[in-house]
Amino acid sequence: MATLSQPHAATPPPYPDLQLYIDGEWRTTDDYLPVVNPVNEIEVGRVPVARTQDLDDALAAAQRGFESWSATSPRDRADLVRAASALLRERQDEIAHAITLEHGKPYQQARLEVIRGCEFFEWDAGEAVRTYGRVIPSAPGVRYVVHHQPIGPVAAFSPWNFPMSQPARKVAGAVASGCSIILKAAEETPAGALHIARAFDDVGLPPGVLNVVFGVPADISSHLIPNPAIKLVAFTGSTAVGRQLTGMASNHMTPVLMELGGHAPVIVCEDTNVEAAAVTSAVRKMRNAGQVCTSPTRFFVHQDVFDKFLEVFTDRCSATVVGDGMDPSTEMGPLANVRRVPALSGFVEDAVDCGADLMTGGKRIGDTGYFFEPTVLANVPDHAGVMQEEPFGPLAIVNPVDSLEEAIYCANSVPYGLASYGFTNRADYADRMVEKVEAGNLSINTLEASLPETPFGGVKSSGYGREGGTEGLNHYTVVKNVSHAMRIV
Ligand code: NAD
Repeated sequence: MATLSQPHAATPPPYPDLQLYIDGEWRTTDDYLPVVNPVNEIEVGRVPVARTQDLDDALAAAQRGFESWSATSPRDRADLVRAASALLRERQDEIAHAITLEHGKPYQQARLEVIRGCEFFEWDAGEAVRTYGRVIPSAPGVRYVVHHQPIGPVAAFSPWNFPMSQPARKVAGAVASGCSIILKAAEETPAGALHIARAFDDVGLPPGVLNVVFGVPADISSHLIPNPAIKLVAFTGSTAVGRQLTGMASNHMTPVLMELGGHAPVIVCEDTNVEAAAVTSAVRKMRNAGQVCTSPTRFFVHQDVFDKFLEVFTDRCSATVVGDGMDPSTEMGPLANVRRVPALSGFVEDAVDCGADLMTGGKRIGDTGYFFEPTVLANVPDHAGVMQEEPFGPLAIVNPVDSLEEAIYCANSVPYGLASYGFTNRADYADRMVEKVEAGNLSINTLEASLPETPFGGVKSSGYGREGGTEGLNHYTVVKNVSHAMRIV
């Protein structure tokens, strides 16, 4: 059974004063939403709710910001993005503490997230000077030249699971490529976005290029997306919301970049080092309390190694130290918000009713804070809800399979296709997975799904488009072909 660690006594830096950032100015409003520490349910801050006028001001500012920013040189943009990133690195301790307070994740994980956010900025800064066009061979006296130009003001929506690195992805893509952006960051976890705005303000980003708002998500998206000023909608979150926003954008022929849910399969082949695979999987599963779109969740384990895998995996999951992220011994914090507690309990109850074996965990820990036990379900029937719906929490499914073909069939039997994983030393097995697993990302013998330099995104209901890699800035630019005859023909 998971036990709670104790918080340490050191006083963290104060939680930031939360404001909107519009047209280079900080502003607050009369209406606010509380930001609650999920460890103890105590309010740590208040996030202002944007009014219609604030959103209209942000739209006008983003249009002006785009006019000037898109006319700056890529090298100047890259220098400014790198300067902001350097400030964020300097402030990593303050930012990580704020994230741990509002989200609950262990401080060291929050610090690594801040660093990862900076790496996103630095990668996209490097890519800004490489948005190459091309010259198409032509008849004498004529030139065909393909240009990539910044697409325009972006409306972006980032979720609560990675308060720094998720907004960083969107802001990096937009600002590096010469766009302006209105970012609606998560109201539950606003500190990362606020620090990003502060860093860009401090290094002199012109007004209107970056605007950060908070409020009622549906009110903001339904106001921003239909506005003709918005030329791209970038969203990370659930498939259900992504579908709604894509529908709204399509009415205006506005392109979208959608990073949506996942329900990552892990194929464990009989030839692998089963104990090592089980331990690394358990540790990765419980990272961020499983609230990760790439979290390894559906394990399909060859029956020859199933019992051993299940035993080692269950033992390591149940040994996870759960507690306050401020305690250095904590491996897993609480769920980030209260609505995830009944969601997780519901998945477990339904699976057990359907005949699954509950190997460990399955319920809330205590009655203060949103702690949930690391949970392992085995032999889960296909008709259990959790086989199709992403649990987005510290819950893993471990099912036996007879062959790699069956594992691949099971892996592909959900509407999602974001991250996927395999453990094998056989080249032919790995090759089969590369050919057949339906996912935007496949990782073999590692549970690292993406890096700044690798393209990340989904297939099927997991979304559309890629962030990171050399593909990352494509969505923030449009292609213009110029045909230039030297004299009138
Ligand atoms: P949700 O579907 O209510 O919200 C998901 C995200 O979308 C949140 O950040 C929310 O603020 C935002 N959102 C909701 N309605 C919106 C709207 N009309 N316009 C703009 N933004 C809107 O779910 P939730 O309870 O917050 O999170 C649980 C589910 O969300 C999970 O099951 C998971 O699939 C998904 N999720 C995915 C990611 C990811 O990284 N892909 C991150 C967070 C949540």
